[in-house]
Amino acid sequence: MPGEANEKRTGAEDILWDLSDLYAGVSDPQIEADIARASALADEFAATYRGKIATLDAEGLRAAVSAYENIVEMTNRLGAFAYLIWTTDAANARYGALLQHLTELEAQFQQKLVFFELEWVNAPDEFAQAMLGAAALARYRHWLEATRRYQPHRLSEPEEKILAEKSVTGRSAWARFFSELQGNTRYPFDGEELTQAAILAKLHVPDRDVRQRAAQAFTEVLRGQLPTLTFIFNTLAADKASDDRLRHYSSWIASRNLENEVSDDVVEALINAVTARYDIVARYYHLKRRLLGVDRLYDYDRYAPLPAAEGRYEWAQAREMVLRAYARFHPRMAEVAEQFFVRSWIDAPPYPGKRGGAYSASVVPSVHPYIFLNYTGNARDVMTLAHELGHGIHQYLSREQGMLQQHTPLTTAEMASTFGEMLVFSDFMNRETDPAMRLAMLAQKIEDSFSTIFRQISMNRFEHGMHTARREEGELTSERLGAIWLETQRAMFGDSVEMTDNYGLWWSYVPHFLHTPGYVYAYAFGELLVLALFARYRQEGDSFAPRYLEVLRAGGSDWPEKTLAPLGVDLTDPHFWQEGLGEIEKLVAQAEALVNGAG
Ligand SMILES: [Zn+2]
Repeated sequence: MPGEANEKRTGAEDILWDLSDLYAGVSDPQIEADIARASALADEFAATYRGKIATLDAEGLRAAVSAYENIVEMTNRLGAFAYLIWTTDAANARYGALLQHLTELEAQFQQKLVFFELEWVNAPDEFAQAMLGAAALARYRHWLEATRRYQPHRLSEPEEKILAEKSVTGRSAWARFFSELQGNTRYPFDGEELTQAAILAKLHVPDRDVRQRAAQAFTEVLRGQLPTLTFIFNTLAADKASDDRLRHYSSWIASRNLENEVSDDVVEALINAVTARYDIVARYYHLKRRLLGVDRLYDYDRYAPLPAAEGRYEWAQAREMVLRAYARFHPRMAEVAEQFFVRSWIDAPPYPGKRGGAYSASVVPSVHPYIFLNYTGNARDVMTLAHELGHGIHQYLSREQGMLQQHTPLTTAEMASTFGEMLVFSDFMNRETDPAMRLAMLAQKIEDSFSTIFRQISMNRFEHGMHTARREEGELTSERLGAIWLETQRAMFGDSVEMTDNYGLWWSYVPHFLHTPGYVYAYAFGELLVLALFARYRQEGDSFAPRYLEVLRAGGSDWPEKTLAPLGVDLTDPHFWQEGLGEIEKLVAQAEALVNGAG
């Protein structure tokens, strides 16, 4: 038995983080002292500035933003500590109590401080323009500008108040109804009543008969709920149309683009580039069909596992693989990454009470990021380490931008993490000689890229079709929605995967369409951005790395189009995105060569 336990050891068991850079523990008296201090500062801030923001001069506004940033940093430091320690043992009552206490305090602080952003957003244009142009405010310019970006779309205060209040029983209620319906639905399968996650997991099993029957069972339940689901989709699409009209957004996607800090042109260039290369998807699924040894692939075969070779990696190996790949890119990358290991900023092993998953928490600029893992030693865990360290390096290097401008918008938030994965993946492919291992890694990478790039863009095309049709044609039938869905999905798969009539109902369970309209393209944006940057890196060699590090350092201090400028990329140029797609095509070609025995 002890031998068996040893068998499973990865060497990550003793890799625990040291949170004492934040606080010594949950009973550290400094916690209460910091709470009291932040609270006093927040009161003082409100007393000094409430009602006066639009009367300040540039120096005065700078002092206000700086004081505000300081309070936000203090509360985030407290909140980060409580959250980090709680994720290591969610059942610990003292951790839970501290987290709850700080969450409530944070809400109180927010209430005290919210006037500041509101007064800035509502300040007269002339004042705002003068402030944005003032040298004294240069450091905070982007935050000030970004905070005001919704201003042209805001309604009057009483209108906003009514909309917010009615949304609770309107949009939010419909979205919650959808979630509860889905959460409560069970899917009969082989005498069991399965949850949605459990029935969809059956699409990933090797046995085709199980996949086919699971797809059938899932569809049958959707069919029973179809009138309800169609009504929810119609209602929320119409609600969004009213919102966009009232707020003067030029298209269904415009508000999302504004939130993501990208222009409509950039998003259009991305979508056009991806939809023009759907042939890559068909090419891969033809290969997958051969590998699975079937005559025809159906929609329920898309996630069938390939015969895989699975490696095992000790913690020390994983660390070496990641640091080596990072060092090859630029010594500074490895130097920053190394600190995470040496200075105990990583909590690596799974253990009882610890939450699942992985994350890198930026914490606050005056401290440093911490990385949370559940390392068990498989290939995916190595990639997760590369991913989270990519985030960690980005967060570490962008600390100098301060609390308010460290974070990037969603579209570029996954850039450093995905780029880190690419570095490790490419280094692995350069070193691994076993064809089975190479093919397994390649297929994994290709399918991951497909699900983040092509699938998300094809879903964006469905959203586009749905919102456009709802605005032009009025209430849509289930058949009409199904037709838009099948059309956009068939466009992607071409003749490589047969979309059954059953699949025509599968638009109706995707929560993103209702909860966060327009959101899905951001995944594709981030992943394809990285592939395109990687193509640049390959072309330009070592001169690329220092400029890339500059981009990381800039954090969220400007619009993404500007922070990416040192890399000489033009996001509105479809050719830039095509370079990224060319990288995926190369991966597919490599996989084909391996299957044909030439790789
Ligand atoms: Zn991530």
